[in-house]
Amino acid sequence: MKRHNGLSRVHSTTAGVAALAAVATLATGCGGGADAAGKPSPAPTASGAPASGTPSAPAGGDGTASVPAAVWHKWGLKPLPAPPAPPADKPVKLTAHGPVPVFAHIPTHQKVVFVTLDDGQEKDPKFIAMMRELRIPVTMFLMNDAIKSDYGYFKPLQALGNHIQNHTLHHPAMNTIPLARQTEEVCGDQKILTKQYGTAPLLFRPPYGAYDTATKAAVNACGPRAIVWWRESMQITNMQYQAPDKKLRPGDIILAHFRGPSELKGTTMTEMFANLIRRIEEQGFTVARLEDYVAAPS
Ligand SMILES: [Zn+2]
Repeated sequence: MKRHNGLSRVHSTTAGVAALAAVATLATGCGGGADAAGKPSPAPTASGAPASGTPSAPAGGDGTASVPAAVWHKWGLKPLPAPPAPPADKPVKLTAHGPVPVFAHIPTHQKVVFVTLDDGQEKDPKFIAMMRELRIPVTMFLMNDAIKSDYGYFKPLQALGNHIQNHTLHHPAMNTIPLARQTEEVCGDQKILTKQYGTAPLLFRPPYGAYDTATKAAVNACGPRAIVWWRESMQITNMQYQAPDKKLRPGDIILAHFRGPSELKGTTMTEMFANLIRRIEEQGFTVARLEDYVAAPS
């Protein structure tokens, strides 16, 4: 399998001021704060009007509230507060047709953040055990090259209520390839994920965060109804923040990855994830499920 390392690819094509601006986020590899064409990707804004739609039933129930303190302690953690019930009127509403929105946070006043896990390279059985015990909601943006050796690894995580979303077949910088190839990347992953996991992804995350107007057209043609960016990206012990004050804000979407010791300087996936939860807990936030705040097209 081709080694998945966004750092060199993005960095080599980034220039000038954009490179300086991008240095901090480029260290995330998969993530990256600039697109590969050398200009920062536009800061996405949340979409979806506050609205007047039909209230839907809260879809919470991920069960963190019932996890005993001793179980948190076993993983070296303090208990996260139980997540509040998600708003009955979901703050982001997706439509079946028309341009796909891009968002990096969810408009909410609740002290919740959303954890996304990208690619799928590392398949540590201990992480499944951790998620079974802690019931922390995560959203998985899976890239076929990273997961095709073992699609089954992600099924226990899905069975816990976690959603699987689209992250391309081969992890290209989408804004460097033509529409036809972008469409192959999105539709190809969509088809495989739907077949393997029994449900069609609703959301798409572009590798390195890089996208252009053709990406939106490709996503629109292939099924996902929104492009999801992020506000923070998890490293090994700390997050990189886009906000200068380096603080979480309600509704922030956090980028993390399925990574193991070879990519984390010896740190395991579960240790990295525990560090992430500590950073969230110590700022007084808890983790909610992204899809509970996003209304799929009716
Ligand atoms: Zn990625």
